[in-house]
Amino acid sequence: MTSAEIRQQFLDFFASKGHQIVPSAPIVVKDDPTLMFTNSGMAPFKDYFLGNKPAPSPRVADTQKCLRVSGKHNDLEEVGYDTYHHTMFEMLGNWSFGDYFKQDALKWSWELLTEVYKLPKDRLYVSVFQGDSTENLPMDQEAFNVWKTMIAEDRILMGNKKDNFWEMGDTGPCGPCSEIHVDLRSEEEVARIPGKDLVNNDHPQVVEIWNNVFMEFNRLADGSLVKLPAQHVDTGMGFERLCMAIQGKQSNYDTDVFQPMIQFIASEAGVSYGQDEKTDIAIRVIADHIRAISFTIADGQLPSNNKAGYVIRRILRRAVRYAFTYLNFKKPFLNTIVPVLADQLANVFPELKAQQAFVQRVIEEEENAFLRTLENGLKRLDTLQDTFKANGNVIDGKTAFELYDTFGFPLDLTALIAKENGFTIDDAGFTTEMEQQKNRSRNAAQTEQSDWTVLQPEVETEWVAYDAEQVEARVVRYRQV
Ligand code: ATP
Ligand code: MG
Ligand code: MG
Ligand code: MG
Repeated sequence: MTSAEIRQQFLDFFASKGHQIVPSAPIVVKDDPTLMFTNSGMAPFKDYFLGNKPAPSPRVADTQKCLRVSGKHNDLEEVGYDTYHHTMFEMLGNWSFGDYFKQDALKWSWELLTEVYKLPKDRLYVSVFQGDSTENLPMDQEAFNVWKTMIAEDRILMGNKKDNFWEMGDTGPCGPCSEIHVDLRSEEEVARIPGKDLVNNDHPQVVEIWNNVFMEFNRLADGSLVKLPAQHVDTGMGFERLCMAIQGKQSNYDTDVFQPMIQFIASEAGVSYGQDEKTDIAIRVIADHIRAISFTIADGQLPSNNKAGYVIRRILRRAVRYAFTYLNFKKPFLNTIVPVLADQLANVFPELKAQQAFVQRVIEEEENAFLRTLENGLKRLDTLQDTFKANGNVIDGKTAFELYDTFGFPLDLTALIAKENGFTIDDAGFTTEMEQQKNRSRNAAQTEQSDWTVLQPEVETEWVAYDAEQVEARVVRYRQV
């Protein structure tokens, strides 16, 4: 089954169960001060759960573009090194807004996985909330009872509050959840170690694929829990992981979600994927990061020097450096992957195809800007190796700040390079340098105020619309910031 078919089957299945299929919300969040990017399928529906707005239908399903690079969910460090965490991924989800509850949700998830997708039942595990005495919360007997009618009892695992009780925040809707995990190891491995010992243990072939959340409580400001007037279901399934399981692969990157980009990158670099771990990691990171960058730009977030814009710039610069150091791309290259991605997803996310040229130009500009200083920054780091060693294998704050300020190295990029060389970074020292520079510019601004006022260029995150005719204007504007 191709990934396109897998996605379509999910939507068709829930449509057949009376769900309205809705398009993905933008990956960039514009009206929620607590969130920069959509990080779960639930996020765009918050208002329905909180009762601020009526839902378009009591049953909804979709695939949602998600980004997990900041805040509560930050998977950036995992990407490329493990095989199943991405920065940007699709979360398939079905929702009940005060309509069906545990019984239907769990039965349908089982039916879809085992009858439509035909995943073997003896490779699946499910988890159920075990209860929590400090909160006076009982075990989720209802979910347990539903599972018992479908799956062998020794495959139902009890989970604690951390893994199996979901909360929106310090206050608000919350409730127990029930996860589904899949064991993709070889027969021999399965015989050697039972899969249930590896669930939630960071094993790359025993992975969580689906989470069913049952919102039945409201957490009040005093910390107490009260029953919600209506009960809701919120589910999230990692699309790329599902494809790995159905396509019988060992890694998300081996599925047809990533292979077109991976083959393109490898061929442009003149290497083969799967020959060398270092180049493989670089190829995976680039394939992952270009998705995150392309979709956020297409959804209106340009790279910039602060907030959401800087998150994108950081991801982009990480990708540029992987391409430069490990695949020998000394000229802008990342932008040429955009058409491969846009074509592949043209039917699902037409917004990228529609803005392909614009997205490509923004990325190329960014690449050009960073490539101007990257090599010198790397040389600077190289020449100081002995100093760092003498300093207890620590890159001092002054150097980290110089790299940031003069060479455009985001701190996390310097940290990554440090890690590769067995060094750490003096974060506190970096912060001190940053503060001192801010003070210097504040003082300079004060003395200059009387005879000349320098207007700072607008580097705030900037919202752009989809209008294709404005592309030129936007690129020009972008160059100015
Ligand atoms: P994990 O424990 O693997 O980090 P999670 O518990 O943080 O996953 P949820 O918040 O429950 O994930 O999200 C629902 C589903 O989304 C997960 O079951 C998983 O299939 C998928 N998912 C979560 N994070 C990622 C990611 N970074 N990349 C790809 N898929 C993801
Ligand atoms: Mg996680
Ligand atoms: Mg988890
Ligand atoms: Mg989970």
